Amino acid sequence: MCPYCFSHCINHGSSSSGNKRYRCKSCKRTHSKVYTLNACKQSIAEKVTSLLKEGCGIRSIGRILRISAVTVLRKIKAIAKQLKKPLISFGKEYEMDELCTFVKRKSRKRWIVYAIRKDTKQVVDFTIGSRTNSTLKKVTDTLILSKAVKVFTDKLPNYRSFYRSLLPNSIHSTKYRGTNHIERKNLTLRTHLKRLSRRTICFSKNMVMLHACLMIYFFS
Ligand SMILES: [Zn+2]
Repeated sequence: MCPYCFSHCINHGSSSSGNKRYRCKSCKRTHSKVYTLNACKQSIAEKVTSLLKEGCGIRSIGRILRISAVTVLRKIKAIAKQLKKPLISFGKEYEMDELCTFVKRKSRKRWIVYAIRKDTKQVVDFTIGSRTNSTLKKVTDTLILSKAVKVFTDKLPNYRSFYRSLLPNSIHSTKYRGTNHIERKNLTLRTHLKRLSRRTICFSKNMVMLHACLMIYFFS
């Protein structure tokens, strides 16, 4: 039986390790019953995803699943590539905030800007970049396009001047406690993703991986 579409399979020679391979007659994909290498097993993607969300780093995932760190990186990139940002429904309220992290070296600060829906607390959009208007604009544009009723941000004066030019006054709010949910989410993120932990030597070595990990954490 085909593990992808459950149709009938026929013999398809053997693998380099001598195990029989099968080929599906309808979707034409091949598979094997016995896998010698852990990395080839079909359940490995799910395990990588759940370990990543539980605060394991790349190397610890590799050690637990007995696959190499390079394979873990490759798997994460492949999983993230298949994920898409969700469609946003019109006329909702949002909270928006920034999270500071480092990429490549501890002196290179990058900001994760993201927005959550106030009622479901689901992340709707995020972006990574320097602390500038153009980084914030990517997220605010999504919110404006989805006809946001209200967007809550924090009160810091530098952000206020940032947001003022990006969000129309009628939908922008800096109400006290308006960003409670997203600030709690920041703490959860820092506990669940190893690369976002504070005061450690763990941090992202490149932007592609940081983006891939966030895609998996937010949208899978
Ligand atoms: Zn099939």
